[in-house]
Amino acid sequence: MEKVAIIGSGCAGLTAALYTARANLRPLVLTGHQPGGLLTTTTVVENYPGFPEGIDGYELMVRMQKQAERFGARVKFGSVEAVDLSRQPFGLTVDGEAVEAETVIIASGASHRHLGLESEHKLENKGVTYCATCDGALPIFRQHPLVVVGGGDSACEEAMYLTRFGSVVHLVHRRDALRASKIMAERALSHAKIKPIWDSVVTEVLGLDQDKVTGVRLKNLKTNAESVIDCAGVFVAIGHVPNTQLFKGVIDMDDSGYIIPKQGPATNVPGVFVAGDCADRVYRQAVTAAGLGCAAAIEAERYLAAKNE
Ligand code: NAP
Repeated sequence: MEKVAIIGSGCAGLTAALYTARANLRPLVLTGHQPGGLLTTTTVVENYPGFPEGIDGYELMVRMQKQAERFGARVKFGSVEAVDLSRQPFGLTVDGEAVEAETVIIASGASHRHLGLESEHKLENKGVTYCATCDGALPIFRQHPLVVVGGGDSACEEAMYLTRFGSVVHLVHRRDALRASKIMAERALSHAKIKPIWDSVVTEVLGLDQDKVTGVRLKNLKTNAESVIDCAGVFVAIGHVPNTQLFKGVIDMDDSGYIIPKQGPATNVPGVFVAGDCADRVYRQAVTAAGLGCAAAIEAERYLAAKNE
């Protein structure tokens, strides 16, 4: 039986693994379908402390895994298909195999919501991105027109951030009013470099022939008129989908599926802790996920110590 099973291998999961491994708990990390998590899909990570030159997202995650393994963490490739958190030890089914654990740390992350276009998928990392903070400063975007899709706080924040790099930032929103908080919306709309395009959706990302984004095709939902605008980057900021389906009905979560921690990283089920993007709808940064992974590990360790006293 495992003392600690960690669901997810992004920054939160691997940091939880590092800390629980150093506490001699030999954690079992279950990678999920994307080992290393969302960060492996970005190129250079320039805002993770300790890497003044930046570091490739994939390499950062490989390093985190090695660091955790050095102290005894075991990383198992596999997806958790089912959980039984109603009994002790907890039961997990991982690719058909049963795993039992005294504590579980949920670090299953969140996925960027996609527009669902084939051209979007084909040009991902070739100008289509889901994280301005991660990718906005890349040379391919500098002094070029950029497009942000979305009307929420994320879209406004991304657009504001991108004004540092792009020549102009087109904010494409499907309605004629932003969903974002008033202060964020006002800030974005009053910025000289941000040009809103209302009532419109992206129907195609252009540039497949050049293997990089060259523009977007737009459709105005009120008039059905089509138009094309040139751009070097498309930043999709239409929300996130937390990967918490498995825990529905058992672990407390909000209407969008983000887990609601009870106290610190504890959940409503004693012995089950949570860390990272699956419980964070605000910050969603690598460094905050790592911090929350550390907190969850410390609480899991304390829980086990109290239980075994
Ligand atoms: P959000 O508030 O859910 O907004 C998503 C936006 O994307 C909405 O404007 C929505 O349009 C649009 N959208 C959704 N699906 C779409 C699709 N298929 N095609 C085109 N547009 C689509 O998500 P978020 O902006 O990521 O924010 C999530 C939460 O984090 C919010 O509670 C927000 O306040 C918070 N947040 C806070 C900050 C901050 O305070 N600094 C920063 C970022 C996020 P509609 O408006 O028509 O639904």
